[in-house]
Amino acid sequence: MLPILIKLAYLVAAVMFILGLKGMTHPRTAVRGNIYGALAMVIALVAAIFDAYLHAFSFTPVYIVLGIIVGSVIGGVLAVRVKMTAMPQMVALLNGFGGLASVLVAGGDLMQSIHPPPESLLAVAASGLIGAVTFWGSLLAFGKLEEYKVLAQPIRIPQQQLINVALLVVCLGFAGLMAFGYIWAYIPLVLLASVLGVMLVNPIGGADMPVVIALLNSYSGLAAAMTGFAINNHVLIISGSLVGASGIILTQLMCKAMNRSLLNVLVGFSESSSSGAKADEVYAKVRSVSAEDVAIMLDTAQRVVIVPGYGLAVAQAQHAVRDLGKLLEKREVTVEYAIHPVAGRMPGHMNVLLAEADIPYEQLKEMDQINPTLETVDVCLVIGANDVVNPVARTDPQSPIAGMPILDVDKCRTVVVIKRSLSPGFAKIPNPLFAADNAYMFFADAQAGVLEIVQSLKNQ
Ligand code: NDP
Repeated sequence: MLPILIKLAYLVAAVMFILGLKGMTHPRTAVRGNIYGALAMVIALVAAIFDAYLHAFSFTPVYIVLGIIVGSVIGGVLAVRVKMTAMPQMVALLNGFGGLASVLVAGGDLMQSIHPPPESLLAVAASGLIGAVTFWGSLLAFGKLEEYKVLAQPIRIPQQQLINVALLVVCLGFAGLMAFGYIWAYIPLVLLASVLGVMLVNPIGGADMPVVIALLNSYSGLAAAMTGFAINNHVLIISGSLVGASGIILTQLMCKAMNRSLLNVLVGFSESSSSGAKADEVYAKVRSVSAEDVAIMLDTAQRVVIVPGYGLAVAQAQHAVRDLGKLLEKREVTVEYAIHPVAGRMPGHMNVLLAEADIPYEQLKEMDQINPTLETVDVCLVIGANDVVNPVARTDPQSPIAGMPILDVDKCRTVVVIKRSLSPGFAKIPNPLFAADNAYMFFADAQAGVLEIVQSLKNQ
């Protein structure tokens, strides 16, 4: 009876994972989707404990429970402490540890099995290969996102792509040896795959990092699925495949959002900071304004578009922005929020922030939707955004963000950019928008600046 119940629990967990993903396709059902996913994980874990009780050594369930306790404490503390702006780093670490877990579980299974069949050995090899690439690649991605000095700049290695292909071929050779029963080959396979992971992420940087994180996320899922085959655990196969597939879909969406092909991203070295023009030249004609000036502009506006960016998240200005939006609406101004798909530091970052402040979802407009209408906008408030409104993406083919679709806010009648200085954004390049004829800079922290504008509007 127990084995049937365990299988049934795995099936329920798998269905709930799928329902969870479905729920997360819309902001309104996202919370429910998250709860489904978490419940599915609880069911899968309980089933795994009973599974181990039936099939493994008598003390294995205790180890699993200990692992769950330690993991839950670490995960809980991290989830509470991590800043929203540091989510990509967190996701990078989670992907990496997923990969490491696959390497260890598959390796552990290899040590325990007596005469495993070739297909099982191949699954272990795939798990070790993809898991090690994911772990080391993710650690390097974490370091790059944290802007650790040594890691931030890619190290140029001659014939890097050729070396990568050679490493992959040798890894596949070791995987082949494993299929013939030479299980020692797992160790050199994992070691070389670790080098490959570092080599693959090394050349990538700058604005391409979101794509890499999504890709590593997909790899961690694939590694888990392979481990599922190795240890014959169906829920691991299903959940791993779901992560693998959704990671690939996200990777594709991110590439599209940045007008980059995946191959182009993987070849890397996009972090050249030379954008042609120097900051001093670009910013020669910058005009700055005060909160009162911005309030006067808003007072006569009929249509206002707010562009949130990374700085809005840093300043936690979403509640202040909501108050400004409401105040303007009371004055019968049409207020919309223009959302760039890679604004902030994680996919959907701006949607999450604005939802947290209860900004109605209907007012959030995607880039493709709002771009054709920007010419009729009276005032565009760019709040803590930089790269996603940088017109050099359209005009300078040498720029690191060349070809990335941007919010064409330079076409609005008036643009006000709220940020603390003329410092560059993530791609580290100057932004000519700040010196455009129709643009004004309001130098302030996003939250303090917006609150000042609200106050000035109320004082009028
Ligand atoms: P950017 O990183 O281009 O610019 C953010 C701007 O915010 C900076 O220029 C900074 O200027 C300003 N800022 C920082 N703190 C504050 C503050 N407290 N108050 C006001 N302004 C502040 O952000 P964007 O959102 O425009 O673009 C996102 C970039 O990040 C893209 O290049 C994207 O590729 C990349 N990326 C995106 C990820 C994703 O998944 N969304 C993940 C990883 C990277 P100043 O210091 O002068 O205030």
